[in-house]
Amino acid sequence: MTGPSTEQLLKELGLQLTVTRAMLGTLELDQILFIILSGITHGDGLGFNRAFLFLADEEGRELRASTAVGPADEAEAHRIWEAMKAQALDLHSLLGRYEATAREPQTRLLTQKISGCVVPLTAQPPPLGDNEQDVPVQALIARCAATRAPFHSSSLRAMYPPLDDTGGEPLEFDHLAVVPLLLNDTVLGVILADNVFTDRVVDTQDMRALNMLANLAAISIEKARLHARLKEMAALDGLTGVFNRRHYEMRLDQEIGRAKRNGRGMSLLMLDVDHFKQCNDSHGHECGDKVLKDLAGLLRQRVRAEDLVARYGGEEFVVLLTGGASADEASKVAEKLRAEVAGAGLGGRPKGEITVSIGVACLPSEQLEHAALFNRADQALYQAKQQGRNRVVMAPNP
Ligand code: GH3
Ligand code: MG
Ligand code: MG
Repeated sequence: MTGPSTEQLLKELGLQLTVTRAMLGTLELDQILFIILSGITHGDGLGFNRAFLFLADEEGRELRASTAVGPADEAEAHRIWEAMKAQALDLHSLLGRYEATAREPQTRLLTQKISGCVVPLTAQPPPLGDNEQDVPVQALIARCAATRAPFHSSSLRAMYPPLDDTGGEPLEFDHLAVVPLLLNDTVLGVILADNVFTDRVVDTQDMRALNMLANLAAISIEKARLHARLKEMAALDGLTGVFNRRHYEMRLDQEIGRAKRNGRGMSLLMLDVDHFKQCNDSHGHECGDKVLKDLAGLLRQRVRAEDLVARYGGEEFVVLLTGGASADEASKVAEKLRAEVAGAGLGGRPKGEITVSIGVACLPSEQLEHAALFNRADQALYQAKQQGRNRVVMAPNP
């Protein structure tokens, strides 16, 4: 048996450099996945017909089909390959065009076909014969994850049934290769590549290069995940788990920009716990903390997912109704929240003891501005305190 030729090794090294450079330029998981899968399918890379990536969930319980790169069917394959030839688009240039490529609808077709494919991570998946036909692709992925070993075959054929409602042809996988994405001994995912259209047999050179890409992929995916978690943590308030003031201020600017573009108005609620100092003084700081946590949880639960809840500071919270609520709707939301807080018994205190005052500001699209919205809500909150607390005050119409 002969080893790889110098030419092959140089080509592999070149691919490694191109892919590494591209991956160093981003922390976006989707872009990283695109880079890896393009390296596997592009002619300058490993030249597989298609590549599919399955990613493990955070708890490591299952693998889910995440992204696929390649033609959706044979006709599409010939069309794409002819177009690539005509454009002479090398791998480096393709990776640089991620934004444009990701927007093209046909890029999503293969991903859509495999989406919904979930593989439980069990320690002992059923055994698989090498000559089996039409085995569920899940069995293949499960085995690769359990054994943590790469595997390739030209005699085993796998398939994935379409979702019931698509009515499309099942996906078939032929001349296939599977490799695990390992970080230490943890399975981050599995890559499946195949040559279903060209029937090119997968060889040991392919497998060595595929393993090399899988190692790069594992490191980059972990890096992107850590980055995403860090970003999330930096946006959250440590005590209550809702967004912090810094994130709220950034999002408010973004939401104002979006609302103006869509000609929508926006409403802001400012809430402040009444006589909170007394609560701390009488029942201890720990009880006060529990009140704040419970209040944040109640707010989060009672507003729509697209609305933004943040702790502005101390015992002050803001709720940004991003869905273009009218003054009437905003007033109803505020009144509902006020009544629910009063009736909830937050922090284990008797019902009715912990209450909030709420100031509400609504501005139409033309007058929407960060400082104006905030100051109006703040003044309305001040009025609510002046008028006796545990109430909602609407800022006057602009
Ligand atoms: P008002 O009805 O006018 O709002 O009265 P208040 O007592 O709520 O207002 P004040 O601003 O005098 O007191 C706010 C208190 O909130 C004082 C501060 O110690 C307390 N506080 C701020 N942050 C925290 C926190 O994270 N945990 C706890 N337990 N208390 C906090
Ligand atoms: Mg306050
Ligand atoms: Mg207060």
